[in-house]
Amino acid sequence: MEHSILQVVLDTPLATCFDYRWTGEAGAPAPCAGQLVLVPFGRREVIGLVLAVREKTDVPIDKLKDVIAVRTQLAPLSPAWLELCAFAADYYQRPLGEVAIPGLPKNLRIPKTVALDRALKKLARVDNARDATPDQPPLLNAAQQHAANVIADARQFTPILLYGVTGSGKTEVYLQAAAQILARQGDAQVLVLVPEINLTPQLENNVRARFPNLHVATLHSGLAEGERMTHWLAAHLGRARIILGTRLAILASLPHLKLIIVDEEHDPSYKQQEGLRYSARDLAVWRARQLGIPIVLGSATPSLETWHHAQSGRYRRLELRERASKDAVLPKVRLIDMERDKPAEGMTSTLVAALKLRLERGEQSLLFLNRRGYAPVLACDACGWISNCPRCTAFMVLHKPEHRLRCHHCSLEQRIPRHCPTCGNVDLQPLGRGTQRVEEGLQNVFPQARITRIDADSTRRKGSAQAAFDSVHRGEVDILIGTQMVAKGHDFRNLTLVGILNPDTALFSHDYRASERLFAQLMQVSGRAGRAGQKEGGSASEVLIQTRYPQHPLYGAVMAHDYDRFASGLLEERQQAGLPPFLYQALLRAEAKELDTALDFLKLAAECLQHPGIVINDPIPMTMTRVANVDRAQLLVECASRPALQAFLKEWLALLRATKTRAKWTLEVDPVDI
Ligand code: ADP
Ligand code: ZN
Ligand code: ZN
Repeated sequence: MEHSILQVVLDTPLATCFDYRWTGEAGAPAPCAGQLVLVPFGRREVIGLVLAVREKTDVPIDKLKDVIAVRTQLAPLSPAWLELCAFAADYYQRPLGEVAIPGLPKNLRIPKTVALDRALKKLARVDNARDATPDQPPLLNAAQQHAANVIADARQFTPILLYGVTGSGKTEVYLQAAAQILARQGDAQVLVLVPEINLTPQLENNVRARFPNLHVATLHSGLAEGERMTHWLAAHLGRARIILGTRLAILASLPHLKLIIVDEEHDPSYKQQEGLRYSARDLAVWRARQLGIPIVLGSATPSLETWHHAQSGRYRRLELRERASKDAVLPKVRLIDMERDKPAEGMTSTLVAALKLRLERGEQSLLFLNRRGYAPVLACDACGWISNCPRCTAFMVLHKPEHRLRCHHCSLEQRIPRHCPTCGNVDLQPLGRGTQRVEEGLQNVFPQARITRIDADSTRRKGSAQAAFDSVHRGEVDILIGTQMVAKGHDFRNLTLVGILNPDTALFSHDYRASERLFAQLMQVSGRAGRAGQKEGGSASEVLIQTRYPQHPLYGAVMAHDYDRFASGLLEERQQAGLPPFLYQALLRAEAKELDTALDFLKLAAECLQHPGIVINDPIPMTMTRVANVDRAQLLVECASRPALQAFLKEWLALLRATKTRAKWTLEVDPVDI
């Protein structure tokens, strides 16, 4: 009998490394690092990950518990993957087990192996040696070809910003650069990250049509467990050559990864907002550096972090200035002053006329309003009552088709009151306008038009978003109204008008990132118009922005399609104000039944440790203080040096963990919502 001591990582809070004993037949190879094992933990049996095999430990060997089983049928996770998890855990200040284990498919994390064995069998059966004819790729224009070549020729860590206007054919660059790499190296894997896979089904179809003979795997939270398992395994075993996924795919095991693409790299959904609060884009850059491979960050409106790196020369910048489709040009952007052209039903007469023209010509229009529901507030004129949520610092939103008031923060629902709860007035008024109300208004103005609304409410059923988008692509819709769900990625070919209803609120947000986001959103939704060239007798494509602040410089930059100037201006402001990316931040959040409990904890936290160069701001209640009867407060920590901040956080966390408090708290590194 031989003994080995295995250092095993478990998904448990705080300490996550435990020693176990492995006793094997003489001559049998001991498990190695990266293997999954089943071990006893308390009264349970749990899956752990072997971090290292050791000769010695402080604990007497006969006190150690035995490993129950080793998942020998599964190839070990690579040292590079373990290193990635260790980096993420260290950087985001979370236990390693919480990073490495929950990212594995659920069926790998259970004591039974039936699902694993079945998935392995299924993968062995799948015959990949198909011989289908790939879709013919279009001939790249010079800028695209140059970009594709630079990417494909990079033989070491090369971070590339692919800065291309909407419709400039970035996807085509990704595909053709990937094709070169995949053809050159028979086992190469390419990872393509997208913000939300359900909103970009076209990409998946294009990839499959272009590479019909390669195994394409998808990884996102919408997959059923069984699918998730097979796709993850296909990636882990190197069978899948192209992996298309959302942010969680950045932690997949990809032994032959040779290229990473992050599409729409500025998109906020790359940031995980709970548990391990990581930025998939940042981890992707780290992973590319670790492996010495190229990484492409694609966007028409890059994040200021990326823009900053491109300006300082740390990232290589490749530019696509023109739209790719024959004769397609960027739409003309016009501002409509709502003080002069007063809107009815939320629409100015200019917008209504433009919609009418599109209807007459059989072209499609898109109206964008980033607010769902019918009206954000229901109010009583007589006594001033408004529909506050009893559990949050927020209004209950009127949802007319569903006959409900709904809180978008705690999900509380109520019937719409027939009369004012305070004074009995029966004439309650909706204030403001959401997508449902715009839809109703459109129906009144254009009773003949085929109108479709796409937002989180209209697409609750699985597959319904897809069905709605399909009908737009088939030309069964004249006017599409929606939230940011309609702004992303779609290549609508017959759409010549985009109307933006009420973007002004973001101009005056307390969040310093709001204008960066607004600009990106406006460019992105504008980019849905005029993606095919102008048809004979058809309209030139245009974007109409309804605003009360037509003089605002942000709109000026949108009109000029001038992200360069806008971004450079913002960067300068950030530098002067001492904000990211010129400074690094961490945010400590605390929540409790009473605000004081949260604030008291943060005050203790603010005082318990000082490091030179670390600025600890005052604890403050969050803007939306109360959600679901819990009060929330936060404390921002800032530092000009990333390593110094990291060192501080490590020491600080140890102290915080030892602090007694009834508040629940979390720490976020590089927070985006402050
Ligand atoms: P982006 O992602 O930059 O917004 P897409 O990749 O969606 O742009 O491309 C926009 C449109 O241009 C797509 O319909 C695409 O098929 C088309 N396209 C891309 N490259 C070319 C090309 N070289 N020649 C003709 N059409 C192209
Ligand atoms: Zn009243
Ligand atoms: Zn609420």
